[in-house]
Amino acid sequence: MKITRVSCQLIPPRWSLVRIETDEGIVGYGEPTLEGHARTAITCVEENAPLLIGEDPRRIEHLWQVLYRGAFYRGGPLLTSALSGIEQALWDIVGKYHGVPVYELLGGPCRDRIRMYRGVGGATPEAAAAAALAAKEQGFDCLKTGAADGACRLIDTPRIVDDAVARIAAMREAVGRDFDIAIDCHGRFSPAMALRFCDAVADLTPMFVEEPVLPENVDALAALTRKARVPIATGERLYTKWEFREVLEKCELAVVQPDLSHAGGISESKKIAALAEAWYVALAPHCPLGPVALAACLQVDACCPNFLVQEHTPDALGKGYLRQPLVVENGHIALPTGPGLGIELDEEAIAAMPSHDWLTPQLRHADGSVADW
Ligand code: MG
Repeated sequence: MKITRVSCQLIPPRWSLVRIETDEGIVGYGEPTLEGHARTAITCVEENAPLLIGEDPRRIEHLWQVLYRGAFYRGGPLLTSALSGIEQALWDIVGKYHGVPVYELLGGPCRDRIRMYRGVGGATPEAAAAAALAAKEQGFDCLKTGAADGACRLIDTPRIVDDAVARIAAMREAVGRDFDIAIDCHGRFSPAMALRFCDAVADLTPMFVEEPVLPENVDALAALTRKARVPIATGERLYTKWEFREVLEKCELAVVQPDLSHAGGISESKKIAALAEAWYVALAPHCPLGPVALAACLQVDACCPNFLVQEHTPDALGKGYLRQPLVVENGHIALPTGPGLGIELDEEAIAAMPSHDWLTPQLRHADGSVADW
């Protein structure tokens, strides 16, 4: 089997697709989306196409090495997002070639269904409690909420943390203690504010506190994890096993969150999960992207023993994109049974979709200076 064509498309609301065709008629899909840079990422995929044409798509590990190591410049969000999308498409092809889901080729399933969470917000404690209760009534036993709605100064007034505690306490009160609440700080806090925040929410027993500080300085995160009394998660802005090695060795982490469209793809995320397993750290793949990225996550979730929970958005279930959208039932998605990534794209509907030029929103402090988003 040989790769004959590599093509890309931007699809709304902010995603992208790579389509890899073969001389045996098998077609694979991947999602190389880098949010806010989707056009740049698909250009990077197209630059790599000459290295793929004529190659056997079953040599996934070899082609990963060709694209990653052969490029000389390596890693980072752009190159590994392009590589991730390509790698997902190769797995889709190989699964379809063998007629089995990808997880069957990665050791087989180690669970019967996949636990999901959804993002839940609310501007006031009352609204947050109602939204949390609605998620519980839909069958979820887990949600994630944001730590802060707006910009946070390096040292801010007590109000930001007070408001967050009031909202999350109302959620905890509404859903009870047989329910998990994760909190995403989105890298908005300085280490000092992050420690104040982690201290304030510790008694609400969060499942994890995510990205309490920004990812560039691993030592800053390491110092925080030694002081915080809550489980700490990070990883959506880390790329490849090499970056995860450093956070796992330096930080007292509880959860790693590789993004299968950024960290290097399916095999690389399985390797990252195995590194985490050696530290008794859980896997909760990041996925605010589309149905192809989510389908890739489900394949890895199925076969990693340390899987904890899977992020998704309602759009990612694929209504309008997939012939049979994914279904969340009682807070879980059933093990996919279809070959490859286990989904069938509605190719006609997707071909007719408009392009997009989605840009990452900007956040400003009150004095006009740039705030971390
Ligand atoms: Mg996050």
